[in-house]
Amino acid sequence: CGIVGYVGHRPAQEVVIEGLRRLEYRGYDSAGIALVDDGRVAWRKKAGKLANLEKEIADSPLPASSLGIGHTRWATHGGPTDANAHPHLGYGGRVAVVHNGIIENVDELRRRIEADDLVFASETDTEIAAHLLELQVASGEDLTTAMQRVCSVLDGAFTLVAVDAERPDVVVAARRNSPLVVGLGEGENFLGSDVAAFIEHTREALELGQDQVVTLTRDAVSVTTFDGTPVQGTSFHVDWDLAA
Ligand code: GLU
Repeated sequence: CGIVGYVGHRPAQEVVIEGLRRLEYRGYDSAGIALVDDGRVAWRKKAGKLANLEKEIADSPLPASSLGIGHTRWATHGGPTDANAHPHLGYGGRVAVVHNGIIENVDELRRRIEADDLVFASETDTEIAAHLLELQVASGEDLTTAMQRVCSVLDGAFTLVAVDAERPDVVVAARRNSPLVVGLGEGENFLGSDVAAFIEHTREALELGQDQVVTLTRDAVSVTTFDGTPVQGTSFHVDWDLAA
């Protein structure tokens, strides 16, 4: 399973798919991508190999975008179906989320918001995070604050990456007990489960600590704790080469 995120000056679709390919070795049963274009989230997801997702995109092309997130799934909650593949969207279609890991208190969280007649589109533990983030941004919070608040109520292990249709310049991610690395580029920034996802583009990386949220734009990367306190990430240089 793997996660990729990108914001910059290149076509995000290419960077994200290539990043997912570099993470294929981790194993997965489904794959998906979300891009932000013209105030909307555009997404494709498909059970099976990355080739299935690529065929889906070839049959039904995505809009050009310079911001995107991608996912390879190793199913834990809900079978390996198209519907359970990531990204998952919030109830209003504004927020898209990808997740590696397990959200353990999903039943309790679902009960809390099911009162509002929310219909779940998948059997995953992930979808609840999309709805909770959407609730936050719909109430006027920015995506970073939304992520901090939502992560504070989640139990378990997660790498979460989210985009907001109304913020075509920002990718926000968080981690607890699950890996996430930031790649620092020139006028572009990357996210990956490991550096393999972006090493062909940059060797400057930033390690995220436990229970941290990172906000990426083309030109800036900022890190906070789940309670919003700014922290300095630890940067490092990747000086090894990928096997072909
Ligand atoms: N628990 C999530 C799911 O089953 C994420 C699995 C993963 O780590 O890929 O969809």
